[in-house]
Order: sequence, then structure tokens, then C-alpha cells
Amino acid sequence: MRLHDTRLKAVVDIVPAREGVLTVYACGPTVYRDAHVGNMRTFLLTDLIRRTAQLSGLRVIVVQNITDVGHMADDTGLGDDAAGAVDEGQGPGDDKVLRQAAAEGSSALEIARRYEDRFHRDLAALNIYPAEHYPRASESIDLMIDLIATLMESGHAYVGGDGSVFFDARSFPSYGELSGNRLDALRPGHRFEGEVDPAKRFHADWALWKKAQDTRTQLVWDTPWGVGFPGWHTECSAMSLALLGNTIDVHTGGIDLRFPHHEDERAQSNSATGTDVVRHWVHGEHLLFEGRKMSKSAGNVVLVSDVIERGLDPLALRLALLQNRYRQQMNLTWDALHAADATLTRWRDRVATWAAQPSAAMPADIVAAMLRSLNDDLDTPRVIMMLRELEKSADISDGAKFETFAYIDRVLGLDLARTVGQAPIEAEPTPPEISALLALRAEARAAKDWAGSDRIRDELAAQGFTVTDTAEGQQVQRG
Ligand code: AMP
Ligand code: ZN
Repeated sequence: MRLHDTRLKAVVDIVPAREGVLTVYACGPTVYRDAHVGNMRTFLLTDLIRRTAQLSGLRVIVVQNITDVGHMADDTGLGDDAAGAVDEGQGPGDDKVLRQAAAEGSSALEIARRYEDRFHRDLAALNIYPAEHYPRASESIDLMIDLIATLMESGHAYVGGDGSVFFDARSFPSYGELSGNRLDALRPGHRFEGEVDPAKRFHADWALWKKAQDTRTQLVWDTPWGVGFPGWHTECSAMSLALLGNTIDVHTGGIDLRFPHHEDERAQSNSATGTDVVRHWVHGEHLLFEGRKMSKSAGNVVLVSDVIERGLDPLALRLALLQNRYRQQMNLTWDALHAADATLTRWRDRVATWAAQPSAAMPADIVAAMLRSLNDDLDTPRVIMMLRELEKSADISDGAKFETFAYIDRVLGLDLARTVGQAPIEAEPTPPEISALLALRAEARAAKDWAGSDRIRDELAAQGFTVTDTAEGQQVQRG
């Protein structure tokens, strides 16, 4: 598989460090509100990487963190929810989870768990496979303390004037490689977490651990550096190193996380381990809705639940997202969602009709082209286009169309073999290894290699499939 690597600014081959296993760390949600459809676009990116890699036979391990502490309202400076994104100081309200808890009159824990549950509900609605691990920041404090201690011992971190622990940006020479924000070009006054802070030695340093003020009573921990709470970037380094080790194949997130979140995480992880931990940084571009950035203050934040409330299948959202490549900024509209919903319904109806016809081998060239597109930096729009062509094709049998739609749906995840308003499809798609044998047999027959063709027929029979040769090509049946 090839993906665009942000640091190398190029589409590169992704070769797992450990043969057969692809490890992925995905920045997860900050659980103080529902994820919007833009967040879902970024989460879908990880799912596409997973499904594409799995289809090529790789085992995939995804770790996605749950940020339930430490993400401050002014951490990104880009504030996807705009409202109050530039709060100064360190009052309890500045931690996104604490601020929401105060607004809803709940405890921080209640807020965090409620939105974490809803995050899982939304992922399921979009057929996004669950990660293998969902570490919570609030339950990984010991890992963060260990990481900070390591950075202190190796001279990469120091206790600042206010008792917080800061990372010494100048101790990491390749700072800026990921985002292009080199230290010499970053001037004080540029938006940093906490702005220009007299507690730091250098304006670009950032807090690994923040000393809590007396007003903050929830989400605080006692540490060698006093009572406080972690900086947002600290958690991703600590949890990714603990769960995936010192080498991580792919790290994903939305483009806004490139700086400072990922730049700082890279500095921390690499300084703590002495290696370049993340082999490939992959970022998804943002989603606009009806031409505008989604923000609470503009009142145009759209959730998965809004899509469902309008009577649309949530997988119409998935299809609409797949119609755009992850690396391009995308403008989603209600019209596009309605159109995707109509396509989804039509495809499911067609697939159900085709399923009733005798099965036939997938068109090898078309399937190969689809797999090439997926492996070529997740060119999902191209795959969708090929499906539209296949749908209309007069040269390909219904049975072959059924098999192809069902097969490629392993990556697209659109439940295409699920009928709407009819009896469920009884025909089960032919397993991929059987399809592969059928394709080989078609090749053998085309080459008039009758002995080879018979050998494969016997192999199919041994696996419980009977193949018959008809004018339309091979047809396969179980038993
Ligand atoms: P958050 O819950 O705010 O920490 O964001 C979760 C993920 O969604 C992060 O990877 C963000 O980069 C990503 N994200 C935020 N806004 C958008 C957007 N409009 N489009 C796509 N991804 C986004
Ligand atoms: Zn992160």
C-alpha cells in the first residue's frame, strides 16, 4: 500500500516494520462533545487504511486514544469549535472536559464517559471497525509520569518558573520537520499553547505536565512535580509508546493536528527513545459543510445523529465521504448526502437482484484495478466510479457483479449485500480464496491449459465448491 507521508511530502510505500503486521496509532476524540461529521471523516481514514491492509492479508493493530483530560481550549489555536478557543490562563474551565462538565452541571467523569459511549455508537453507525485498544488519558497517567521522568533525566525537559514541566524544544534538532514550523522561524507571539509564558525558557517550549491551580479539583494527580494534569501532547506519546512500542508504522489524524500536536509528540517520543518512532505520518484534510468550516458559534455543526434524524442511512455519509479522497479538502452538502443515500439504496437493490442469479467469477482485470486504486493512496473516488461503470456494464454477468460488489465492500463497508425493505439476501458471497482460484482457472482456460483448469476444479471441489462452465463463463455453487 502507498500513502501520503506528511513529513516526506510524498506518496510512499508503506512497509510494516514487523512482517505481516501493520501498527497504526490514531489520534482519538476529545470526549467533551459529540464527534461531528468532519471528525468522522478523519476516523474513517484509519478504517480505510485498516481494511485495505487487511484485504492484502496484513494483520492490523490500531490504537486510538480517548482524550478525557488535558486538551485545553487553546491547545490547537485553530479551535474546531471556535467558541472560547482563546481562553487565557489555567482555570478549570480551560480543560475542554472540565468546561463542559461545568456547563452541564455534571462531573468530568460523567461527561467523558457519556461522549466516549456516543463516539463508539457513531463509529458503529459508519461501519468503522473498533480499534484493538482505546486507552484513556485519565487512566494512563503513570505512563505519562514515566515518560516525563525519562525526558527530565535526559535533559529534554525542565521544571519552569510556575512549577509546570516543559519540553525544551531546542533540545530536539529536527523540530519542525513534520510541519515546516522550524524553531528559528517561530517567533514569540505566534500562537502557542499558553502564549508567551514567563515560566518557560524559550517561547516554543510546551508544557508536558501542568501545575494545577487551587481552583481545579477534578482531573488532577499528585506527581513528583506537584499536583497537576498532563499536557495534551504528552498523552499520545505515552500511550503510543506503551501500546505499540518504539516503532509505529502509521500515525493518523486530521491535518490540524500536524502542528503543534504531532510536531510536539514527535519531539517527545523521539527524544525519549532515541529513534524516529513514527515511520509515516498520514493526515486527512478537513471537511467543510455547505461551504463553511463547521463551528459551534456558526451553528453549522453536523453530527451522525443529524444525518439519521433526516431519515438518511448513516452509511450514506460513509459513501459521500468515500467519493472524495482523504487528502483533499471536501465540501459536504445535504444534497450530496441525499444523492449518496439514493445510490446506496439502488446498489443494495441491484446487489439483491444479482444475488439471485448464478454466481460467476469476478472480472479479474476490474478487481485488480480496484485494488490498485485502493492501494494507491486510498483512491476511493476511483473505486466508486468503477463500481458505477460495472453496475451499467452489459458485458459482465449479474453473478460476477454480485461477487465484485460484495468483495470490494470489504473495504468500502457500505453493507451492499444488505437489502432494504426486502427479504435478506440468501446467497453468500464467494470467499475470496475461492474467487482467486476461479480467476486462476479462467486464466488457465484462456491459455487452453486444460490440465491446469481441471486441477483447480478439483481443488475447488475439495473446498466444497462445484464449478460449471457455461456460455457466460464459470459458475460456482456450494456443495
Ligand atoms: P477532536 O475530538 O477535536 O480532538 O478531533 C478528533 C479528530 O478530528 C482529530 O484528528 C482532528 O484533526 C479531526 N478533525 C477536526 N475537525 C475536522 C474537520 N472539519 N474535518 C476533518 N477532520 C477534523
Ligand atoms: Zn494525539
